[in-house]
Amino acid sequence: MSDNSPPGLDVPESAVAKPFWDGTREKKLVLQWCPECDRSVHYPREMCPRCMTTDLVWRELSGRGVVYAFTVQHFSAVADVPVPFVIALVDLDEGARLMSNIVGCAPTGVSVGMPVSVAWHPLADGRALPMFSK
Ligand SMILES: [Zn+2]
Repeated sequence: MSDNSPPGLDVPESAVAKPFWDGTREKKLVLQWCPECDRSVHYPREMCPRCMTTDLVWRELSGRGVVYAFTVQHFSAVADVPVPFVIALVDLDEGARLMSNIVGCAPTGVSVGMPVSVAWHPLADGRALPMFSK
């Protein structure tokens, strides 16, 4: 983990998102998938926002993608979160777009279109946050 990774974070968990968080315990990026639309559904929810089916399944994704957009955060409201750090929208190869952090490189090394892969930031309770690195 790089020096610009946030330390322990208090991350809530909801019932509908439990499979996502269970996957993070095994460092697997698992997102909802709509078999009717053949597309990912993210954030986790009870029904597909496109076709309204409630028959969503969970699918492990590759964890690979590209940076769609990013910003560099130079100030933190939390005293023990080191700055600067990168907040990014990552387009996964399977079509989902996640907001996350880019870690493992200086913020000046991040660019739109940069290929990235998932890098896990461990949480105190055994779960992990999916972040991304080159
Ligand atoms: Zn659907």
